Amino acid sequence: MTDNITKTQGFVFKEDREQFFAQTACTIWLTGLSASGKSTLAYAIEKVLFDNKNMCYVLDGDNIRYGLNSNLKFGTEDRSENIRRVAEVAKLMNDAGLIVITSFISPFNKDRELAKEIIGKENFFEVYLSTSIQECEKRDPKGLYQKARNGEITDFTGIQSPYETPISPCLQLDTKLSSVEESVATVLEILKLNGKL
Ligand code: ADP
Repeated sequence: MTDNITKTQGFVFKEDREQFFAQTACTIWLTGLSASGKSTLAYAIEKVLFDNKNMCYVLDGDNIRYGLNSNLKFGTEDRSENIRRVAEVAKLMNDAGLIVITSFISPFNKDRELAKEIIGKENFFEVYLSTSIQECEKRDPKGLYQKARNGEITDFTGIQSPYETPISPCLQLDTKLSSVEESVATVLEILKLNGKL
C-alpha cells in the first residue's frame, strides 16, 4: 500500500513551530459514554488554553462525522476507521505545533491503543470520563438514549454496543462529581506535570 511513497521533510520542523507558538504540542484524548461531558470539557479546555495564548483545536465527534468521516457509520469497523482517521489528523495537527483536544466516545481499547501509537505515547494523554450510564442517560442532552431505548438507534454505546473501560488512562474524571472548571484545572495540571505547558 505504501510502495512508491517517500516521506518528505520541509525546512520547518515541528520544534520550530512549537518554538513559534511557545508551547509543546500534544493531544488530550477524551473518552467516555455519550453525554459523559467530553464536548463540554473539550471546548472549556480550549477556551482556557486559547485565553492563555496557547494555539489549540478541538476535534469533536459529531463535527468530524459531518465532514471528513461522513461516509462512516457506527458498526465496529467504521468506529475503528473513525478513530484511526482522527488520530492521524491529531498527529498532523501536533506536527503543526498545535495542542489538540479530541472528543470521541472511542469505546474500544484497541482503537485507543492504535490512536496512542499513531500520535506517539509521549504526546498522548488519555482522559477517561467515567460518568455513569445512569447519569448520562438522565442528562441525555441530544435525546439519543431515549432513541436507543425506543429502538430508533440500534448500535448505541452503553445500550446495544459495548464501552470498554480504559486500562490505564492518565486521568479519570466523573463529571457528576467534578464541575467543568475543576475538570479543566485537573487536565491542565496533568499537562503541566508532564512538561507540556
Ligand atoms: P459528550 O460530548 O460526552 O456526549 P456533552 O458534553 O455533549 O457530552 O454533554 C454533557 C452534558 O452534561 C451537557 O449537557 C453538560 O452541560 C452536562 N454536564 C453537567 N455537568 C457537567 C460537568 N461537570 N462536566 C461536563 N458536562 C456536564
